[in-house]
Parts: sequence; structure tokens; C-alpha cells
Amino acid sequence: VSFEFSPPKGPKSEAALWENIAKLEPLAPSFVSVTYGAGGSTRERTLATVHEIASAGYSAAPHLSCIGATRESIRELLATFQAQGVRRIVALRGDLPSGMADPGEFRYANELVAFIRRETGDTFHLNVAAYPEWHPQARTPRDDLLNFKRKMDAGANAAITQYFYNIDAFENFINEAHALGITAPIIPGIMPIGSFSKLARFSDACGAEIPRWMRKTFESFGDDTASIEAFGLDVVTELCQQLIARGAPGLHFYTMNQSRLTLEICRRLSIG
Ligand code: FAD
Repeated sequence: VSFEFSPPKGPKSEAALWENIAKLEPLAPSFVSVTYGAGGSTRERTLATVHEIASAGYSAAPHLSCIGATRESIRELLATFQAQGVRRIVALRGDLPSGMADPGEFRYANELVAFIRRETGDTFHLNVAAYPEWHPQARTPRDDLLNFKRKMDAGANAAITQYFYNIDAFENFINEAHALGITAPIIPGIMPIGSFSKLARFSDACGAEIPRWMRKTFESFGDDTASIEAFGLDVVTELCQQLIARGAPGLHFYTMNQSRLTLEICRRLSIG
């Protein structure tokens, strides 16, 4: 398993972050990744959090998005990561934050991957993003798949997927990737469900589908948060069981800086 966190915004959320990382420690994560705000908006906080996580003995994996960046600024970041002992990066294009017009010197994640390889050779294990239900801006599924292959061919070692609740979408993606000769591990991203309304908003924006049968069941619970949580835990645990049974190379949890739901899912899966 691996866990994703966002850099904390202040002392209170920093304390909560460390509390949650400590709770997840018994699960012996293979790495802990730290997100990077759109257009580099969390650059300093991401760097500080990565530094602390690495100092605490975890394999820290900063996310790094290139949209809006210059080659020089990425070069500096890579040097900082190297000095921090970082060996794994989640390399992304990212999205331009609203109001920021200059796309910078990179257009797509494959260009970032190629740049990192050119600049630093094999220093970093590079993960990229994958979209079993297709990236929302992709012209066609085929285009998205070929663009995914571009990133892998540019030197990515593995991919982490956007979350999904439809295992057929994941299986289809894996089969399509294999058919194109992609053999690197594709790690499913797992989103535990704490609040259905938040999940629904988020899913619309990132292009992840909540299947109708799940949506209808969640909606039927209204404000009954206990039932929403219980159903969400059942659904996500079942998904993880199916993924493990089908040989997924790992599970990457989008923790949303929490630990309770991830811990409970892992307990049910007898992980840790
Ligand atoms: P790309 O792989 O570049 O793809 C973006 C779009 O462009 C796709 O539609 C693709 O089909 C198309 N495309 C790609 N290459 C080409 C090409 N050469 N020519 C033409 N079209 C092309 N966002 C953040 O801001 N911070 C984070 O920390 C963060 N972490 C994430 C972690 C994971 C595991 C995932 C799945 C997503 C994450 N995101 C994060 C969201 C991500 O930044 C957005 O989904 C973004 O819109 C796309 O980034 P990408 O690296 O997948 O882009």
C-alpha cells in the first residue's frame, strides 16, 4: 500500500497530518506521496512536507506538476529533491489554476518525464497518472491511451490511476495498455468514501464515475452519515478485494489527510 497526503495549511492541520501518518505507520507503506498544488501553488509547503516525511524515515514521493513551470524551476526542484534523498516522484502535467494564463515551458506530462530522465538519468523512480475512465480533456479514449503510452515510453516506471468504482473500467484499461506493449505496474488509486456529496462534486470535476447503483444507494441515505460511511466502506473494501484477487501491483490510497477509513479498509483486507 501507499498513501497520498496534501501539504498542511497551518499548524493545526500539520498536527493532524502527523497524527494520521502515525496511525497508518503499522501498514508499512511502500511510499507516502505529497500532492503539489495547481501551478506550483503549494511548492514550498510540498517541499517542507516531503522533507519531514523523508526525515521521519518514509519513502517520500513528491508530486510534481509542470504546467506553468519553466525548465529552470523544475531543474531546481529536482536538485532539492535529490538533496532531500527523494528517490520517487509522481510526475504530472497538472492543471493551470484559474487566472494563470501562461502555460510555461511544458505542455504535457510526457515532456516532464523526458526532461527528468534527461536531467537526472535513473536517479528517480517515476510514477505518472493513468485514467481508467479517461482523462476529462481527452479527445477520444484511444487518444488518451496513446498519450498514456507516450509518458511510459518517455521513461516512467509505473502509473497510479485516478480513482474509480467500476472494476471493468480498470480491467479494460489494463488490457488496452498491455495490448500496446505497456508492462510497467499500473497501481489502482483508491478513494475511501467519507462524504457522498463531496465525492459527487469531486468526481464530476475529475471525470471519475460513480455508478448509478452506488449513487442511488448513497442518495437514499439522505443525511444519515453513519449509513453512508458503512456502505462506502463495504463498497471500497469489496473493490480492493477484487483488485487484489486480480493481481493489482499495489493499492494507492487517496487519504484526504485522514486515516480512519483507510485503516478500516486495510483492517478488513488483513493488510498490516
Ligand atoms: P497528461 O498526461 O499530460 O494528460 C493531460 C491531457 O492531455 C489528457 O487528456 C491527455 O490525453 C492529453 N495529452 C497528454 N499528452 C499529450 C500529448 N503529447 N499531445 C496531446 N495531448 C496529450 N493535480 C495536481 O494539481 N496536483 C497533484 O498533486 C496531483 N496529483 C495527482 C495524482 C494522481 C495519481 C492523479 C491520477 C492525478 C493527479 N492530479 C494532480 C491531477 C492531474 O494533474 C490532472 O488530472 C491533470 O489534468 C492531468 O495531469 P496528467 O499528468 O495526467 O497530464
